[in-house]
Amino acid sequence: MGGGGLSGVETAGELEDFVRRVRGRYYPKIGATEIRTYLVELKDELLGELPPDMGAYARQRLERRGFTVRLGTPIREVREAEVVIGNGETIPTRTVVWSGGVRPAPMVARSGVEVDHAGRVKALPTMETSRSTAFAIGDCALIPNVEEADGRPFAPTAQNAVREAKRLAANVVARIDGRPLEPYRYRTIGILASVGHHTGVGVVFGIRVRGWIAWFMWRGYYWSRVPGINRKVRVAIDWALTALFGTDPVQLKVEDASSAMGSSGRRHPPVRDHETSD
Ligand SMILES: Cc1cc2nc3c(=O)[nH]c(=O)nc-3n(C[C@H](O)[C@H](O)[C@H](O)COP(=O)(O)OP(=O)(O)OC[C@H]3O[C@@H](n4cnc5c(N)ncnc54)[C@H](O)[C@@H]3O)c2cc1C
Repeated sequence: MGGGGLSGVETAGELEDFVRRVRGRYYPKIGATEIRTYLVELKDELLGELPPDMGAYARQRLERRGFTVRLGTPIREVREAEVVIGNGETIPTRTVVWSGGVRPAPMVARSGVEVDHAGRVKALPTMETSRSTAFAIGDCALIPNVEEADGRPFAPTAQNAVREAKRLAANVVARIDGRPLEPYRYRTIGILASVGHHTGVGVVFGIRVRGWIAWFMWRGYYWSRVPGINRKVRVAIDWALTALFGTDPVQLKVEDASSAMGSSGRRHPPVRDHETSD
């Protein structure tokens, strides 16, 4: 797993959960120790958008379930059967999930507005840019939070993007009417992340939550956003059945010559050994 932000940690947790269950039930000949999982993160902490102790908790949970977590370590190169990290160390693997973040489309920087090193628009709290006729909102914009002492920009989340849009619409009308524009303000309801195995971490209304309760809130929130009572009931029944009988995986009969085990079940040689090497 490359990248230990919200998406990376969630994917790592869910993937490990899934692989462990499927291995035990459908591939008993593959020993538990034959599957090695790594999470490699450039920064010195996981879940950078949450308080550091939440990232430390996520790390502890993942390590307890067998993940090797490497912090402060960049992924240098992804080769066919190995990944080069840090100072040239290699991890033998054919399965890499990359979750190293997103960049705005290059068009944003080319449009003539002032951008930072990553191509995000340096916007004002009113979402105006260095070009008087251009505004910027959403993931491509760095909008300073006027309520933070250091003016830290708002996180690139949908939670912010949809609210920025409403504020921006009002500001465009204000500009046309010759009234002063107002800054975007929003106090986040919270951020929750699953780390798999029915555990989660997060901050809700400023309160830190972790463990089963955080996972339950995370699931509950997504369930509450499922549109329509019909779908809500279907999803709830499906989740209840999964809790009772476990996941119901589907195997696609797709043969891949480079995979360790094709759909025929014939074993290909493993990728060297399962230890990291210098
Ligand atoms: C895996 C994942 C999980 C996430 N989970 C959450 C979550 O749980 N909660 C949350 O709040 N946020 C979440 N987010 C973040 C959320 O998806 C984004 O913050 C949100 O989509 C930002 O909206 P946006 O409109 O700014 O950008 P986008 O949704 O990326 O939309 C940008 C659009 O611009 C289009 N575009 C690009 N270039 C051009 C061009 N030259 N001309 C015209 N159109 C162009 C693109 O095709 C795209 O459709 C998640 C993101 C990811 C990747």
